[in-house]
Amino acid sequence: MTQEKRRVRSVGEEMALTVSDNRIPESLIVQKIADYSLTDGVDVFIFSPDGTLRAGAAVQPEKLQSLYESVNAKTGEWEDGKKAEFTSRDGNKTTFNYAACVRLRGQEPCKLLVRYPVSHIAEAINQIKIYVLIVSLAAFLIAFFISYSLANKLSGPIRNISGTAKKLAAGDYDVQFNSAEYAEIATLSDTLNYMKDEIKKSDQFQKELLANVSHDLKTPLTMIKAYASMIQEISGDDPEKRAKHLQVIIDEADRLTGLVNDILSTSKITAGLDQLNKKVFNLTELLYGVINKFSYLQETQGYNIMVDVESNLYTLADEEQIYQVIYNLVSNAVNYTGEDKTVYVSLKFSAEEQRIKFAVRDTGKGIAEDELAHIWDRYYRSKDSHLRPVKGTGLGLNIVKVILQKHAFNFGVNTKQGEGSTFYVDFPSA
Ligand code: ADP
Repeated sequence: MTQEKRRVRSVGEEMALTVSDNRIPESLIVQKIADYSLTDGVDVFIFSPDGTLRAGAAVQPEKLQSLYESVNAKTGEWEDGKKAEFTSRDGNKTTFNYAACVRLRGQEPCKLLVRYPVSHIAEAINQIKIYVLIVSLAAFLIAFFISYSLANKLSGPIRNISGTAKKLAAGDYDVQFNSAEYAEIATLSDTLNYMKDEIKKSDQFQKELLANVSHDLKTPLTMIKAYASMIQEISGDDPEKRAKHLQVIIDEADRLTGLVNDILSTSKITAGLDQLNKKVFNLTELLYGVINKFSYLQETQGYNIMVDVESNLYTLADEEQIYQVIYNLVSNAVNYTGEDKTVYVSLKFSAEEQRIKFAVRDTGKGIAEDELAHIWDRYYRSKDSHLRPVKGTGLGLNIVKVILQKHAFNFGVNTKQGEGSTFYVDFPSA
């Protein structure tokens, strides 16, 4: 309310000045009164001392008298500069008034009355309330429809995805998660498709492994049983034959142990259960240790391992795991080398690269372009079943990869069809 009172006062003071200014023509004063009435809802009246209206807002003539009396009641006898502020009530309508004694254009004494009926404000507030109500209702409806259609658009694809996921859970790996127009859902679909592909691959891997392993377990077991029966029935008394047959049993048992160890270390490595236990050790000695393991092949089957190795090269790594890496690479080279049954192993320090460079080369068929990408995968084995002296499971290179990646060592293979392959690893020098 104080704001309205201030408004009345400021209009009153301004009008008192305007009215008293003899430079302002009466027509302009009339204009100003009309403007206030129209735009601000503020009514201005100028009365002569005898009660006649000199200028003023539109009002019913019968009300004029009471307006004039209300001014007189508050200002009394005309006295230059006298003024009064008061509030009048008419029913539920409150009016703020400003009354003052002025000289019209600096001469004729007059009484000025400025009125600001509050019902105008109330009406305006009511109007605003209605607008606000309409606007908020409209906003609410719009928001409702937008969220409803958004929710529908979002939940549709999500329902779709969850349906597909249920099929996937039931074992159908050929399902496809459909992308939707929303980037987030499209990304979710892509991720789920990727996940599905990985699950499918892993499922295939498991099945292949099971097939491989059961085959690889069956063969030595059959051999062990056959040779044991042979010893029991035939060769038991012949020391020479018996020794030979027993050797077969021992070899086959070794293969079984190797196979089981491979499977164990793969699952351990991929599950991240084994920690890197790094220390400085003599890599040259470790390499000779691996080569010695193959001496039986050199003696019994005419294999050659040609060695070009610098002595006393030390590196920092997990010795046990590096042993496995070198063993797997050398045994692959022995397995896949050519007719000459020769494998070349080298271990040298490169001053330029500050690295110990290990390489093992065979003279075999090499690796086909399309197989090259897969040889490091779990359970991968080339299709042609190669006759080899050391039994493998298709896990060897995967174990090599996981171990070397964990060490962050550079490794790889260079291969040429028909000429053989060279697997290499770069070790840090310690
Ligand atoms: P595997 O037990 O079958 O040897 P690996 O993981 O050691 O399993 O090797 C995976 C595949 O990579 C092999 O089946 C073979 O096809 C190929 N491979 C590995 N080493 C050689 C090599 N020196 N020469 C040719 N092919 C190789």
